[in-house]
Amino acid sequence: MDPLIARRHMVKEQLEARGIDDPRVLAAFLEVPRHKFVEEYLKYKAHEDYPLSIGYGQTISQPYMVALMTQSLRPEPEDKILEIGTGSGYQAAILSRLCRVVYSVERISALASRARKTLDELGYYNVHVRLGDGSQGLSKEGPYDGIVVTAGAPHVPGILVSQLAVNGRLIIPVGSETLQELKRITKTKEGIKEESLGGCRFVKLIGKNGWEG
Ligand code: SAM
Repeated sequence: MDPLIARRHMVKEQLEARGIDDPRVLAAFLEVPRHKFVEEYLKYKAHEDYPLSIGYGQTISQPYMVALMTQSLRPEPEDKILEIGTGSGYQAAILSRLCRVVYSVERISALASRARKTLDELGYYNVHVRLGDGSQGLSKEGPYDGIVVTAGAPHVPGILVSQLAVNGRLIIPVGSETLQELKRITKTKEGIKEESLGGCRFVKLIGKNGWEG
């Protein structure tokens, strides 16, 4: 199927049908060519309703999960965003269409290089990929209007909350190694607000403030 037609189906049947209704978010999913972020042998499955392997024991998340996290982050055009877990670069690419600048940290060097290459080929130059332990955030470039963690953590790392600007949002899956709850933490002048966005299943956040590798 033509990739644009496949994206239209994906947006209508997987995102709009499940309540994703932010027009900017939907437009970003129509624009970003998801099939470019998966390996050649899996391209025919790129728009399916589930995560796919990207090698090294990691995955590109299900389209709906990327959309839910993106919409829940409430991205604004002038925002500076931090993503933890670059993986294929797809979530960073979506965010790059919605925000001013995206920093994305990945711990596996081969994935970071491949994502950088894909993002460059597409001209998404407002994404900056960094290699390292994202469970410690990226204090040098902070504070951030939004932080999205695309791997499951045992708890909410305080250091990530500390790198949020006032009114900043943190989206993070928190729970056991196999099952988590997606949370939105909002930093306000009055304090920290925490909301649950439902259950989810992510690969492990491995690092100082995550799981042991
Ligand atoms: N956002 C990615 C995408 O759009 O393809 C999917 C990410 S995948 C579900 C989770 C990623 O988090 C993996 O690539 C994994 O290597 C990475 N990761 C796990 N722990 C990390 C850490 N402490 N710092 C940075 N990346 C980490």
